[in-house]
Amino acid sequence: MIDFRSDTVTQPSPEMRHAMAQALVGDDVYGDDPTVNALEAFACDKLGFEAALFTSSGTQANLLALMSHCERGEEYICGQQAHNYKYEAGGAAVLGSIQPQPIDNAADGSLPLEAIEAAIKADDFHFARTRLVSLENTIGGKVLSLDYQAQVAALCQARGLKLHLDGARVFNAAVALGVDIKLIAKHYDSMSVCLSKGLGAPIGSLLMGDSAFIAKARRLRKMLGGGMRQAGIIAAAAHIALDKMPERLHFDHDNAQLLAERLRAIPALEVTTTPTNILYARCRRDRAQELKAFLQNRGILINAGAPIRFVTHLGITSQDVETLAAAIADFYRCH
Ligand SMILES: *Cc1c(COP(=O)(O)O)cnc(C)c1O
Repeated sequence: MIDFRSDTVTQPSPEMRHAMAQALVGDDVYGDDPTVNALEAFACDKLGFEAALFTSSGTQANLLALMSHCERGEEYICGQQAHNYKYEAGGAAVLGSIQPQPIDNAADGSLPLEAIEAAIKADDFHFARTRLVSLENTIGGKVLSLDYQAQVAALCQARGLKLHLDGARVFNAAVALGVDIKLIAKHYDSMSVCLSKGLGAPIGSLLMGDSAFIAKARRLRKMLGGGMRQAGIIAAAAHIALDKMPERLHFDHDNAQLLAERLRAIPALEVTTTPTNILYARCRRDRAQELKAFLQNRGILINAGAPIRFVTHLGITSQDVETLAAAIADFYRCH
């Protein structure tokens, strides 16, 4: 099957499977797994943080960040569309007793500075204490500019708030901006990164920050059941993902542009692109479910949303893009 549903469907490469089979392992809860330790050290070096923690998922990394920055009854400011508000089962509230303070994302995915400023609560016992601002980059495939991120960092500094980045796809942002990942990372007190999306690892995310922050997150990871034992088996693949895969993400971005070009030739669709690996197409008449079934018969998987979200990744070639575009054109010719 050609799978456009998400970059989470990527399969580990033969090199990753080999590294997993060969990995030196130990008990990571004792701090004894050399492959996990090497991954965490490598991440610090590559992204410019003092400490890093390997986690089972991006959701866990974000939850650990929120719980490490905020105590019970405190709050974080985030976007209405933020993954760590909308798509993580309310974990911060359920497990951390942390109050989200969502504000509307602008069309470009950013949180307007004035809106952040207005949402910061005064020191008054009626209010939850505002502790943290959480941004997301990329968000829905859109990229936050370096300037904007610097401005939010300055605002947080001035107001005594911490700043977290949900950087599940932050390497896509760095590639789209054409900058070293450190130029994004330097604005944040903490950052999560998914290794299991476009970077192709089978399992795992990283949380990064200063040493005291990561020490706290490590304790909470144990509390949440995320202390893994011979985790070097998966860290071995994650290391290759972090080391070698960012440099190929531009292929995915090019394929998304190619798909956009092809779909724009189909009058029944309204196409919206992003600078990265995600694009959207709205059916002028809602035929998404029919289209999904039609494509499935031809060995192509999509998510039938409104709009439909297409995601390109290392399992998608430019030929696959042509195959999809031709199949969609066929659908609209005969329906
Ligand atoms: C996928 C994703 C996550 C969560 O990652 P999981 O590993 O699926 O838990 C967090 N934030 C964003 C923006 C994501 O896209």
